[in-house]
Amino acid sequence: SGNYDVQALRRDFPILDQSVHGKPLVYLDNAATTQKPLAVIEAVERYYRQDNANVHRGVHTLSQRATDAHEKARATVQRFLNAKSDKEIVFVRGATEAINLVAQTYGRANLKAGDEVLITAMEHHANIVPWQMLREQLGIVLKVAPMNEAGELLMDEFAALLTPKVKLAALSHMSNALGTVNPVKRMVELAHAQGIPVLLDGAQAVPHAVVDVQELDCDFYVFSGHKLYAPTGIGVLYGKQALLEAMPPYQGGGDMIRRVTFDKTEYAGLPFKFEAGTPHIAGAIGLGAAIDYLEGIGMAAVAAHEHALLAYATEKALEIPGLRLIGTAQDKGGILSFVLERIHPHDIGTILDHCGIACRAGHHCAMPVMDFFRVPATTRASFALYNTFEEVDALMDGIREVIKVFG
Ligand code: PMP
Repeated sequence: SGNYDVQALRRDFPILDQSVHGKPLVYLDNAATTQKPLAVIEAVERYYRQDNANVHRGVHTLSQRATDAHEKARATVQRFLNAKSDKEIVFVRGATEAINLVAQTYGRANLKAGDEVLITAMEHHANIVPWQMLREQLGIVLKVAPMNEAGELLMDEFAALLTPKVKLAALSHMSNALGTVNPVKRMVELAHAQGIPVLLDGAQAVPHAVVDVQELDCDFYVFSGHKLYAPTGIGVLYGKQALLEAMPPYQGGGDMIRRVTFDKTEYAGLPFKFEAGTPHIAGAIGLGAAIDYLEGIGMAAVAAHEHALLAYATEKALEIPGLRLIGTAQDKGGILSFVLERIHPHDIGTILDHCGIACRAGHHCAMPVMDFFRVPATTRASFALYNTFEEVDALMDGIREVIKVFG
């Protein structure tokens, strides 16, 4: 569409130029992880070739360079999310670690037996299990806001669940299993009207939309770098400064202290209080490079391209007899989850792989979503900035092949 040159962008991703089972690779598993552009690969390589050293420790030149690059990446993330301060950007391993961090620090410090945490029916396991662990530890109660058959949150029920017992709402911004984009700005407003802080799981949203944490006014926002064209093992916890200041640290160790004696330790300031141990320096640098790359294209252009792919894929999928879409929300990101009558998703995934098509078949770490739709699993195609309409056609041909073999 327009001047979005997808073929030029594809050349930035060397991995895409290969064959699988003799067919050109069609990579449609981007909700699981995205491929990396040369800009990211080269930033990581450059760091290891030229600048590798530990951060925050040495006065020597390489250590200063590594520290500068690491902190520059933090500033890039701050700008990307429009956070007020780089003190509000904590580097973690990914969305999973960020949510566990909040559960074990904010949760343990502020919640007690009988208090409630509110989640939604469409959460990834990463935003369910940490709260269940906290329930084991503290005796809190986990409440689940329901959705309809389209995979849309029931806003009235959500609002009704925001009672004084709720001490935290932890909510999916975009569902990885359904593609649903939740009206999170409105949800934050509703929660805040009852004095309830909100954590948003942005693991799927961040790669596909402009996210402005000040506009959303969320209290915490989490995401993983690897779904944003950056390396695995790096992710971000955004938290409002006052909240982060008041939270106890997560892990103890080097880098998170100001002064240590055997009697007493004084913790470092933000964000280092939450970053014990040597960080994933190359990962942070890769994340910074990925954001620079994305901003070079423009997040709005990426989102428009993915929406066009989704609309096209949805239209084509609905022409296939026996195909049922799982997740038909009005507001959706680039995820097409479906089942085929009497054919197991694992068989679908296997045949598609033989056609060179990488799709995810499984429960997508959202087993309660599968239970809700009464399916064991779905096949999921998920789009990224480098996918093409021809690849959607290849997917549809692949699905027809599946039906020919198994139908
Ligand atoms: N939340 C959502 C919505 C996700 O899609 C994912 C990744 N599938 C996660 C959380 C967890 O991310 P990670 O495994 O990178 O920590």
